[in-house]
Amino acid sequence: MRKQGKQFETEAIRTQMERTQFLEHSSPMYLTSSFVFEDAEDMRASFAEEKERNIYSRYSNPNSSEFIEKVCKMEGAEDGFAFASGMAAVFSTFATLLESGDHIVSSKSIFGSTHTLFTQFFPKWNIHTSYFDAHNLDTVEGLITPKTKILYAESPTNPGVDILDLEVLGKIAKKHGLIFIIDNCFASPYLQQPIKFGADLVIHSGTKLMDGQGRVLAGITVGNHELVDKIYRFARITGPTLSPFNAWLLSKSLETLAVRVDKHCANALVLATYLENHNKIEWVKYPFLKSHPQHEIAKKQMKAGGCVVAFGVKGGLEAGRKFFDNIELLSLSANLGDSRSIVTHPTSTTHSKLTKEEREAVGISDGMVRISVGLEHIDDIIADIEQALG
Ligand SMILES: *Cc1c(COP(=O)(O)O)cnc(C)c1O
Repeated sequence: MRKQGKQFETEAIRTQMERTQFLEHSSPMYLTSSFVFEDAEDMRASFAEEKERNIYSRYSNPNSSEFIEKVCKMEGAEDGFAFASGMAAVFSTFATLLESGDHIVSSKSIFGSTHTLFTQFFPKWNIHTSYFDAHNLDTVEGLITPKTKILYAESPTNPGVDILDLEVLGKIAKKHGLIFIIDNCFASPYLQQPIKFGADLVIHSGTKLMDGQGRVLAGITVGNHELVDKIYRFARITGPTLSPFNAWLLSKSLETLAVRVDKHCANALVLATYLENHNKIEWVKYPFLKSHPQHEIAKKQMKAGGCVVAFGVKGGLEAGRKFFDNIELLSLSANLGDSRSIVTHPTSTTHSKLTKEEREAVGISDGMVRISVGLEHIDDIIADIEQALG
């Protein structure tokens, strides 16, 4: 009989591969590219997939399997596959499920590289995308055509931290028989589980909150077993697989996901409130501030507001640049979800490949600052921002 599921934190800590004869407490690392067969029959049966076992680490490895099992439990998913990066997960998922002529309906507010994939690469294979405004889900159904196969979105969005109502999107996808895919990277499985709202597949960049310490690149897709199996068959041939070392590290990182994300969110809310009352700040957006336009939806589908706060410095681009030059403690970097607070200028980094019009359409102004609030003491984070604002 299947054991009753435990609480999120317990699953994150206690989901573990079978112990070896050494009875190690913490999972060992399996740095091996292949696995041996006992005899000719074992070899034949393994390749015929008559038994579930590791053959070659491009297909599976005990460390990636442990990581996948954990994330599946956290997201309430049936199955998953782990990738070398978030973009490898995004690309492999879409490339598996789509054929020439197919159509995607996607939120406009998506990760910069995903946007570039949709606009500059998929059209080469006759796969086209129509975009809806993250603020206006009433327009989604009007974009769906007989060729539409996938409904895609991120929430909270990057970098504007808009919130999309996942329940509304899930119902639209179901009504039209679309595969509903959510990039859940900004929330992490601790804050939000899109499968509850009808998502068929959930994608993560493990590089962000999952590792949370800025050490590795990783990605994962979890969800419906049949879809994941197709993705697995594509990935085991094309090879974007996660390395056993990175999988081992991530599996350990997930043990502390809940406590880390709680602290990220607590720090972020204090900072957002501070910025909201600052006379050099033009606007602030954070999902758990009452002033956020989709605050009620955020509260409905998320446990807390996440680690990212977006704001505009009064004085536009010039004032923004001065702010970045004055920063001392925080890191100027393009990552997020790290224990170290990071400030980013989306216009010149993550979204630089978009045109100015494309950026403005998704609410990225030149003076916009994105801060991924880390785990340093909040007083020190605020003190650095205070002195940088001058
Ligand atoms: C970072 C990120 C990705 C891509 O992940 P990589 O690990 O950098 O390849 C995809 N989606 C979102 C929302 C991200 O923040």
